Amino acid sequence: MTLKDRDKKHLWHPLTQHKLHPNTIAITKAKGCVLTDEDGNDYIDAIASWYTSMFGHCNPFITNRVAAQMQQLDQIVFSGFTHEPAIKLSETLITILPENQNKIFFSDNGSTAVDVAIKMALQFHFNQGEKRNTLIAFEDGFHGDTFGAMSVSGLSVYNGPFEDFFLDVKRIPTPNGDNHEYILKTLKTITANHKIAGFIYEPLVQGAAAMKMHDASGLEMILQFCKTHNIVTIADEVMTGFGKTGKHFASLYLKTKPDIMCLSKALTAGLMPMAITSCVQKIYDAFYSDDISKGLFHGHTYSANPLACTAALASIELLQLEETQNNILRVISAHNDFNERIKHHPKVKSTRQLGIIFALDLNVDMERYGNLRDRLFKFFMSKGVFLRPLGNTIYIQAPYVITQEQLEKIYKTIEESLAII
Ligand SMILES: *Cc1c(COP(=O)(O)O)cnc(C)c1O
Repeated sequence: MTLKDRDKKHLWHPLTQHKLHPNTIAITKAKGCVLTDEDGNDYIDAIASWYTSMFGHCNPFITNRVAAQMQQLDQIVFSGFTHEPAIKLSETLITILPENQNKIFFSDNGSTAVDVAIKMALQFHFNQGEKRNTLIAFEDGFHGDTFGAMSVSGLSVYNGPFEDFFLDVKRIPTPNGDNHEYILKTLKTITANHKIAGFIYEPLVQGAAAMKMHDASGLEMILQFCKTHNIVTIADEVMTGFGKTGKHFASLYLKTKPDIMCLSKALTAGLMPMAITSCVQKIYDAFYSDDISKGLFHGHTYSANPLACTAALASIELLQLEETQNNILRVISAHNDFNERIKHHPKVKSTRQLGIIFALDLNVDMERYGNLRDRLFKFFMSKGVFLRPLGNTIYIQAPYVITQEQLEKIYKTIEESLAII
């Protein structure tokens, strides 16, 4: 029996309606930018397996470090104990994060990093004797699938069964250059009628909203407003972190730095699940007390797992290499050239790019969209390219180590795909 068939017996996949999509593809090997399935077909991983494997799959620099750490210390309770990989990771991160970040808190994935950030924001006010129970978020944001993270995400058609249990969240549109005044007015109305604890946002690029990009000056205005109203700002950089936007973090494009940051995905370069919620000293200080109940009583069994910390350290070391920074510049420039080639194509409505993130919207009516997404996905896979269109958007977020030849194959495949729509 093939893996594909055995899979059907006991497995339940994420984000999948199994009746409509019964078939999976079994991957047996991943090396560099190439995935291999059980039939021996190769696919270029043009989305770095959900933006994680930015240094290529099974990168020996990282796997060797993790293998060595495995012989030394595998796992230890992180309450009351500590270890070199976690300490070194905190020291290293502080040197590359925006300069106001000062404390590092560990969890397991992007959603938990967001839940921790929300708890920090709510308890920050609570510990100071103030009950602020409402959060602000962008209308079309995505922050994960646990309850807190789901609550602050833009309302999804899939959230029906849970909506009654969500946190209280007020939503504002993303700034587009024309709506600054409207946003400011909305913020004033919300803050006049509710006690706002925090504002959570994906800085500059919203991944799940199909790489929707927004204007930095508008975000700057919102962050300034939050500062003056003592609203805790939370930058969810789970997707944008570690070089994707052309800087180590998207927040480095902004003058106003966040109070809290959420990191995951490329943090461990695709090797291990781990996440970090970092914060400024002021947040930490609000929990520092003789009163035990003012502490942050949140923890996970695998918090700061030494193997995951080691993977993160190795990957940050790679990120800082001149070779990697040159690769990022090379991919940015290749995307620029591709953009010139494709932006006037009649089937292309618009294109956008920040750093190595490139997206194009197809010129199709969403009502008549039908199964186009599935047809496009199948077309890409049949050509040996793993791309995962979102709605009417095709986007590329390939590993930094992708070759020019592999990039050209991705571009060519996208161009060919326009013929089937
Ligand atoms: C993926 C993602 C999350 C959720 O991370 P998981 O590890 O899938 O729980 C949260 N925020 C953003 C911006 C993401 O892209």
